[in-house]
Amino acid sequence: MSRDQELSKHGIRRGDRRLMAEMNRNLVFNVLRTGALSRADVVRTTGLSPATVSAIVGELIERGLVNEVGHGRSRGGRPPLVLRINDERNYAVGMKLMKNGASVVVTDIRAEVLHSEMVAVDWAPVSGDSALNARARAGDPSSVLDRICQAVEDAVGRAGVGMGDVVGVGICLAGIVETATGTCRYSPTFDWHDVAVAGPVARRLGLPVLVDNDVNALTVAEQWFGRGHGVDDFIVVTVGEGVGAGLVVGGNIYRGAEGAAGEIGHLRVAGQTGSCRCGRTGCLEAVSNDAAITGYVKDALGRGRLSLLSEAPAESLTVETVRRAAESGDQVAGEALEAAGRMLGLGIAALVNLLNPRLVIVSGEGTRAGPLRWEAAILAMRESAFAGLDRNVDFFVDSVDDVAWARGAACVVLGELFSSPMHRNVALEPVRA
Ligand SMILES: [Zn+2]
Repeated sequence: MSRDQELSKHGIRRGDRRLMAEMNRNLVFNVLRTGALSRADVVRTTGLSPATVSAIVGELIERGLVNEVGHGRSRGGRPPLVLRINDERNYAVGMKLMKNGASVVVTDIRAEVLHSEMVAVDWAPVSGDSALNARARAGDPSSVLDRICQAVEDAVGRAGVGMGDVVGVGICLAGIVETATGTCRYSPTFDWHDVAVAGPVARRLGLPVLVDNDVNALTVAEQWFGRGHGVDDFIVVTVGEGVGAGLVVGGNIYRGAEGAAGEIGHLRVAGQTGSCRCGRTGCLEAVSNDAAITGYVKDALGRGRLSLLSEAPAESLTVETVRRAAESGDQVAGEALEAAGRMLGLGIAALVNLLNPRLVIVSGEGTRAGPLRWEAAILAMRESAFAGLDRNVDFFVDSVDDVAWARGAACVVLGELFSSPMHRNVALEPVRA
């Protein structure tokens, strides 16, 4: 799409010079992401005038986002200086808040993880502690947000990076997160309701802070640095303890009015009556998450069915042990994986019919359950997709660990750095001169 088409799509007149300038700058910055280029290369690739490119490059160098390195090949005359994204500065911090602590990473501007650590954080007393909730809401630095700031500073120090070279901090967690305001609307893990996270942490650290739902963070990582790069319409479905989805629609992540888009785990499934963690019954999550698999096995054993898992102590029953039993030919284990996989596939089909994506990525800790689960999901998705919509859907399974979740949070920051000014949540102004 041309720049003018992009502008008119958003009802913006050509006269808006500041926005035009920002869009041009964004264009040049993204072109430089593709590799080391001379100014003449940038002129050729972008179609901008040499004077405009020169001015933008000067500004990007001044902001420390781009640097000049060595000399390119001469086409007669003086060999040109080569420009590239400055990956010796511009680090991002990513953090995933979890039940018993946080996973923290420091990445470079290309989202390569330079340092990662697990921080044991005693969030307690959190659950049900309304006093702590109130302090967190008021941005009291002695509260849980203070612990987040400390973890960021420690990780940056251990990564051997200066705080002045960090472009921003991304924080992700399970729950409903309003990214535009940096507010956690609801977190079942921390029992948070309307807790302002970004503002107090940003003030304390002196850095831009973005907060996002964890599945959305993983989706942003795929969008800017993964399989979704260059794909305008795709979905990421995560499965594990919960079931959720991240949606990229028309080139942009879709978070919904309050940040709650993609909660497919709580689609009601006809004919199902199992209890869900959300307090309702018949939710997709209750019949397709990891607990659905182990629950299926327990039920079958309770009815006296024979299985390799019959002798296993109840606490050793996990998706991995079920997977191993299934791989050894155990019928109950195989049925459990397939039943949960089929249900997940129905949920994915609903998204395929709704959004017509080009790519579906299944991720999350639940991918450890192995191919029986996701092959059943793909089959059910293909059977339920409308009018052959599944035919042009690429399907990938990516496993994920604590580091990948935290890297996703860092990618929320980096994605913002590369985003069109049309779709930015916050201005990532450099904190240094
Ligand atoms: Zn539910």
